[in-house]
Amino acid sequence: MRIDLHTHSSASDGTDTPAELVAAARAAGLDVIALTDHDTTAGWEPAAAALPPGLTLVPGAEISCVTAEPAGRPIPLHVLAYLFDPREEAFRAERGRLQESRLTRARRIVELLEADGLPVSWDRVRELAGSAGAVGRPHIGRALVESGAAGSVPEAFSRYLYTGSPYYVRKAETDVLAAVRLVRAAGGVPVFAHPLARRRGQVVSDVVIAEMADAGLAGLEVDHPDHDPADRAHLRGLAAELGLFVTGSSDYHGSNKAVPLGANLTAPAAYEALVAQAGGARPVAV
Ligand code: AMP
Ligand code: ZN
Ligand code: FE
Ligand code: FE
Repeated sequence: MRIDLHTHSSASDGTDTPAELVAAARAAGLDVIALTDHDTTAGWEPAAAALPPGLTLVPGAEISCVTAEPAGRPIPLHVLAYLFDPREEAFRAERGRLQESRLTRARRIVELLEADGLPVSWDRVRELAGSAGAVGRPHIGRALVESGAAGSVPEAFSRYLYTGSPYYVRKAETDVLAAVRLVRAAGGVPVFAHPLARRRGQVVSDVVIAEMADAGLAGLEVDHPDHDPADRAHLRGLAAELGLFVTGSSDYHGSNKAVPLGANLTAPAAYEALVAQAGGARPVAV
């Protein structure tokens, strides 16, 4: 069983449409793929409608969250939510708030870039985001690549779009403990995405992870492209201590990132534990 539990489509900041994504997943020899677009479920239906035989789809989302270390600055972090009821009102409203904020914030980033003479327009960013339920910095990055301001999306990030850049604008984020509870209340299963992805900025301490476990966290995403072997070993130990299952994934974004589908995988036993805890939606197979 080849199981990849974290991917993005054009419903957020991936480059494959949901239909292309499920086809690519089957072609890559995967048996199970989770669709986890940022703050939106817009890809669920088109992915399910295009599902090839032999592939199981786990509907999910990756929620933009924030926490405060004791006496520290707020730290942005991501919570993966699987198999929740998309109609449950409290969580649905929160996703709506996050999507709305993504739009106004992306517009403001483009204004700041333009004011500095960089070749990027809001119209083009909107076009690139297309029907995406969640516009993100990678859409702005693609516009900067098109106009020659950067050679690639990762380069657009390291030059202009990184967190803390003069052009960076914060978006709304959900308090991480509230997010864990919202996901559970919607029948879903919350997993902490790439807990030690240091490349993206400051990471949280084990104390915060323990608090998340107390709030209802189910798992830790251990095998992720942004984790080195020492971080993986540490997280595996912590998961065992806290009674959490561990997952693995690619965090595939199509051509916006270099990582291929199936770059890391989840063990079947962990996948079974996840599905056993879910009460809001079921995995989809034809
Ligand atoms: P946003 O959600 O709009 O704040 O944008 C953050 C997203 O951009 C992350 O979730 C990644 O998908 C992507 N991202 C972050 N850093 C990079 C990078 N260096 N290169 C390409 N994509 C990135
Ligand atoms: Zn993304
Ligand atoms: Fe993430
Ligand atoms: Fe992701």
